[in-house]
Amino acid sequence: FMGISHEKLPLVSDINKVKFCTIKEMFNLEKEGPYIIAGPCAIESLEYAEKIAQLLKGNNIKFIRGGAYKPRTSPYDFQGLGKEGVKILSHVGKKHNLITVSEVVDGSEVESVAKHIDMIQIGARNMQNFELLKRAGASGKPILLKRGMSATIKEFIFAAEYIALQGNKKIILCERGIRTFENKTRNTLDISSIPIIKKETQLPIIVDISHSLGRKDIIQPIAKAALAVGADGLMVEVHPKPELALSDSRQQLDPEEFQELLGALEA
Ligand code: PEP
Ligand code: MN
Repeated sequence: FMGISHEKLPLVSDINKVKFCTIKEMFNLEKEGPYIIAGPCAIESLEYAEKIAQLLKGNNIKFIRGGAYKPRTSPYDFQGLGKEGVKILSHVGKKHNLITVSEVVDGSEVESVAKHIDMIQIGARNMQNFELLKRAGASGKPILLKRGMSATIKEFIFAAEYIALQGNKKIILCERGIRTFENKTRNTLDISSIPIIKKETQLPIIVDISHSLGRKDIIQPIAKAALAVGADGLMVEVHPKPELALSDSRQQLDPEEFQELLGALEA
């Protein structure tokens, strides 16, 4: 067995060959980064989604996130609104001219989500779901690929390679922390992965400061650290009433805390 030839394909790790899109190119943006992708953990209602869309618009944020298909650890927890969630996110995104990001957990949903949502998120739990990666990559949509919670950087890059092999050059990586023995944070943010990935690939990478920490009291210094080591942007969860959120209640910022974070980054 000789393996397949990669010669004309866009290899993520072949940094000198095929050019991948920057985030700016992917979405025809005017501004250089850092880019902020913000929004609730899950889309829960039109009313909440509308509130967050207005908050983002008012702060000149271009991207809105929100899960419709939620990969929950417990099957008894809120699983997301599914199709209805996609519909709501797409509606507020179009209304406020925001770029929408939402996770797909099953290959059979890729095409229907791709029809309505601007960027498909592959979550940490599915980073090595290779059939899902192939199907998402083949949609031609920009893909936000999160690092698996037990994945090495090499495995992370290989996962991106699966998407790239579909001819997809619109890939954004997302470091969201890995599992270690430390339990003061939800995951341990591997800050070194950012400069390493910058060195070894041409792919943009952002840092999810919400899922890596699982708490919000230290979000400002960590956000600054992520940008200081060269991240192209941040993902952060914001909810109109975090205490009532149906998922990740403890880590989601309220609108005021979100604005404080933006102010701290500006300074
Ligand atoms: C998310 O971003 O909604 C999410 C579930 O994060 P992760 O896949 O990183 O756990
Ligand atoms: Mn979440």
